[in-house]
Amino acid sequence: MEVHGHTVRGVDVGPETRCRHYDSELDVIAIRFPCCETFYPCYECHLAAADHEPERWGDESGGGARASVEGSGSADRTGAEDEGSADRTGAEDTGSAMRTGAEDEGSEERTATGDDADAVLCGICGTVLTVAEYVDCDDRCPDCGAEFNPGCRRHYDRYFASELFETSA
Ligand SMILES: [Zn+2]
Ligand SMILES: [Zn+2]
Ligand SMILES: [Zn+2]
Repeated sequence: MEVHGHTVRGVDVGPETRCRHYDSELDVIAIRFPCCETFYPCYECHLAAADHEPERWGDESGGGARASVEGSGSADRTGAEDEGSADRTGAEDTGSAMRTGAEDEGSEERTATGDDADAVLCGICGTVLTVAEYVDCDDRCPDCGAEFNPGCRRHYDRYFASELFETSA
């Protein structure tokens, strides 16, 4: 099933990502599983349609897409100030210190497997929310205002590692 340009797999998937298991007014999201990078309306659709065990966002173990966080190499260079004190014709100091203000650019580049992963598709407008946005959205699409099923909260642990949502308890 194509929903707003995204492929959503599952059982009896409808145009707004409802499925055989969840087909109420509010069941209009699909969740992307990190194991296969595919949207499914629900956990049970993944069980039915995929040939492997599901993985959760935020889990680092489990074979598939692994978060390769490179935490080393903290280049902390304190730029030594050059004092070009060569050949001073004995005048007064005119204080012409050339300062090369080297600003550290912390380049934080993480593989999207945590709460910044694009994981939830709104079946109404096609917006894709990150895990963090979804956990934070008060059961409403921040883009189109469609209501999401608040009951999904009970199943967060099926889709997301607990540290991704436990802050909003
Ligand atoms: Zn999968
Ligand atoms: Zn389903
Ligand atoms: Zn929406």
